[in-house]
Amino acid sequence: MSELERLAILSHNLADVRHRITAAEVAAERPLGSVTLIAITKTYPAADVRELAMLDVTDVGENRDQEASAKAATLAGLPLRWHFVGQVQRNKARSVARYAHVVQSVDRLELVGALGAGAQQAGRELGICCQVDLSADPNPGRGGASRAQIPELAEAVANQPGLRLLGLMAVAPLDADPVAAFEILSAVAERLRAEHPEATMLSAGMSGDLEAAVAAGATHVRVGSALLGRRTTLK
Ligand SMILES: *Cc1c(COP(=O)(O)O)cnc(C)c1O
Repeated sequence: MSELERLAILSHNLADVRHRITAAEVAAERPLGSVTLIAITKTYPAADVRELAMLDVTDVGENRDQEASAKAATLAGLPLRWHFVGQVQRNKARSVARYAHVVQSVDRLELVGALGAGAQQAGRELGICCQVDLSADPNPGRGGASRAQIPELAEAVANQPGLRLLGLMAVAPLDADPVAAFEILSAVAERLRAEHPEATMLSAGMSGDLEAAVAAGATHVRVGSALLGRRTTLK
């Protein structure tokens, strides 16, 4: 496929996704433009990210450090905000802190100090979302802190030099109704804002459930396959 053919496909998919977001904003009686699209570019090449940037995508997300750091380095000249949305291994925190603008997947206390130290070492400030586990039967290690752990985790982020608490991120569980899951998330977010009024970011919704997330107050949706195509690997 030529670069121009790929650009045409991405442009078409992007128009479609932007239309879905706008329709969801209208349906939820939310201001147009209140939801930011994050293109999740994992498994796709830097060339695709460059084309998305040409199409005015400003925010991109990745879930693996090795892949993300390489793409961020290749595309360093572009005005992109890099979101890290995958599980952070403690020994990768310093690397992630060098290129990410936002780490959305902070789900345990040990990452707070590690990311803060990395950010300070790099002379940067990292935006942080605490990831909430919305599954009925929390499964440690799958990503996300339990709802009960969120206040302590958020407090630690807010007090950590080098980090700025932005809000929450969540993935709807595979086996549950996303509407119900995002309603729970919305309540967790409201409680967080009572303690931390500045923490207004709510990252929820993917290709299959962005409408439900926008209805529940998502400020950011993370869309991969609807933009770039179905991934051939399970990641
Ligand atoms: C892959 C991924 C997405 C995007 O999923 P799609 O269904 O392809 O839109 C969103 N969030 C996270 C955390 C992901 O890992």
